[in-house]
Amino acid sequence: TVALNISGLKKTYKNGVEAVKSIDLKVNKGDFFALLGPNGAGKSTTIGVIASLVNKSQGKVEIFGHDIDTHLELAKAELGLVPQEFNFSMFETLNNILVTQAGYYGVPRAEAFKRAEKYLKQLELFDKKDMAARTLSGGMKRRLMIARALMHNPKLLILDEPTAGVDIELRRSMWQFLKELNEQGVTIILTTHYLEEAEMLCKNIAIIDKGVIVEDTSMKALLAKL
Ligand code: ADP
Ligand code: ADP
Repeated sequence: TVALNISGLKKTYKNGVEAVKSIDLKVNKGDFFALLGPNGAGKSTTIGVIASLVNKSQGKVEIFGHDIDTHLELAKAELGLVPQEFNFSMFETLNNILVTQAGYYGVPRAEAFKRAEKYLKQLELFDKKDMAARTLSGGMKRRLMIARALMHNPKLLILDEPTAGVDIELRRSMWQFLKELNEQGVTIILTTHYLEEAEMLCKNIAIIDKGVIVEDTSMKALLAKL
């Protein structure tokens, strides 16, 4: 099964910037996949298109076989997204943020509370569940973003620079969490500009530069080349 299939993707912003020139990418179910590239390479744009936050100029995107142009609701149901910027309400409690998110996806309320508890515990946020999100540290906010992305049990989780600005100890525990999630069957794609992060976690890797994929290979094969 193919979790993500992108073909002929192009994105030119209205200001004329060709953020994605031509991208073809296939990520199989169960993979832990890195999209590595320098700042400005087109990683966030690609993710934005996959999540239907950015309108593509050309090309086709399928999530578990669902075309985002023709079957957006089905595609969205399979996808959890952790964007770079914190975009939850800072004045709501953690529990509320998570339960509300589940509601958007039609998860029954009792089940939503159960899932919120599970993910808050796994991400070491449970003792903060009734606090307003603004009281969290940066690292805790990042973990809250991950919990929120998982509330509808997506089969594909995409994280944009998940450990940016996170200290090394916390980074390790986030890596551990993501590894376990992947072992439980969730396909994971993350963007990073650290090769080290990709090396620690990922089975396969694509390198993107100036809007094109310049390498698409297994982590092992890439490391052997370096
Ligand atoms: P689209 O073609 O997807 O509609 P737009 O070109 O309208 O996207 O840009 C979306 C928003 O991003 C605009 O509000 C724009 O001001 C902002 N923006 C413009 N340039 C940049 C940039 N280099 N990086 C990030 N955001 C930008
Ligand atoms: P990355 O995530 O790899 O850092 P981005 O996808 O954010 O790369 O950016 C790719 C290129 O597109 C950059 O030149 C960036 O300035 C430009 N860009 C990103 N968002 C917008 C936008 N909304 N409007 C115009 N240009 C943008």
